[in-house]
Amino acid sequence: MSSRLLCLTPEYDSTTHLIRVGGRLRWTEQLDESAIRPIVLDVKHSISRLIIQDCDESLHHPGAERVFTEVRCKYWILRGQEAIRQHQRTCLGCKQWRGQPSIPRMADLPPSRLRLFQPAFYSTGVDLPHQNWPQTLETMGYHI
Ligand SMILES: [Zn+2]
Repeated sequence: MSSRLLCLTPEYDSTTHLIRVGGRLRWTEQLDESAIRPIVLDVKHSISRLIIQDCDESLHHPGAERVFTEVRCKYWILRGQEAIRQHQRTCLGCKQWRGQPSIPRMADLPPSRLRLFQPAFYSTGVDLPHQNWPQTLETMGYHI
């Protein structure tokens, strides 16, 4: 038995055949049984990894602390924070959420917009993102 497990004063639940965290909240009536005595799980077991993965995905890949808090409501995974951080380092969804946007490189300005030493509004232009802009303007009531 590891010392991390001994610190939890584990208790064997004979009805479910699981090891649960002992504690001083057993007489409370407002909390669920899983919140009072969460199930102790080994971090290396595959069910622990599946629980972490499911919680991470159901919460839409938040920070490690948020996942840890949610997991801790029902389960006490030994070295759980490390396992969650390790999972989130390899999780594709977490990488997508934490990724930085790439700013596209702007094209060079056309020569008509680079006429220097001319009075203000000598040449003006409108950049329209739509491909069918003449038709769009006509539908808006403008005549080209
Ligand atoms: Zn994730």
